[in-house]
Amino acid sequence: FIELEGVTKAFGANQVLCGVDLSVGRGEVACIIGPSGSGKSTVLRCINALTPIDAGRIRVAGLQVDAAHLDAQALRQRVGIVFQGYNLFPHRTVLQNVTMAPLQVLRRPRAEVEAQARELLARVRLEDKLHAYPGELSGGQQQRVAIARSLCMRPQVMLFDEVTAALDPETVKEVLGVIQDIAADGMTCLLVTHEMRFAREVADHVYFMDGGRVVEHAPAADFFAEPRDPRTRAFLDKVL
Ligand code: ATP
Ligand code: MG
Repeated sequence: FIELEGVTKAFGANQVLCGVDLSVGRGEVACIIGPSGSGKSTVLRCINALTPIDAGRIRVAGLQVDAAHLDAQALRQRVGIVFQGYNLFPHRTVLQNVTMAPLQVLRRPRAEVEAQARELLARVRLEDKLHAYPGELSGGQQQRVAIARSLCMRPQVMLFDEVTAALDPETVKEVLGVIQDIAADGMTCLLVTHEMRFAREVADHVYFMDGGRVVEHAPAADFFAEPRDPRTRAFLDKVL
């Protein structure tokens, strides 16, 4: 459902992706792990066409992602992305933040969108915060609003880039729990994460990146039980 083949990307002289192959089946959950600067965020940004690729192929949710074929609107509709910073609109309530894009971009009827937003906010356990402003919420609560906002666009794929990195351990759990629920409902998810336990317990596949390449990938259980590449082992020794 997400397919990358030989994807390369350079920023000036900096070759950031050196032929990345990656594939996530429909309804699967995959995690990308790896050291800082290895190209993890760039992979997600390429999938969502936020960063144009130099060579290779990307297909996601039935769409071809390259300059010649790009239908940016269809792509943004099918692929939701949530970053570490929540980027909520500070002067809009939680409910308004969640309903804004479906109303303005998709032009769906207000009653329908608000009903869906209430459902999603209940799902991320924020039904009592509909009329709060982002500044009145904790980091974890804001991150859950950002996830609900993305889901309100009815995507077919969700990308998460270190969405728990800035949160305290208790809050990390609540955000990961929400992602786990979404995955259990059959959403295709690709996450960049430092949460190894989550990767081990929730992911179907784990990809380890280093220096712009996928060095190793395997079903999550095998990946952690018997990492093969010395670079993977060195990384896991450091973070586990
Ligand atoms: P981290 O774990 O720190 O988030 P990462 O694996 O997500 O790291 P990327 O953000 O993908 O790494 O960055 C990979 C490389 O690409 C880095 O060397 C970075 O400096 C470079 N890079 C990323 N975005 C840009 C950009 N817009 N312009 C120039 N260089 C960039
Ligand atoms: Mg990153």
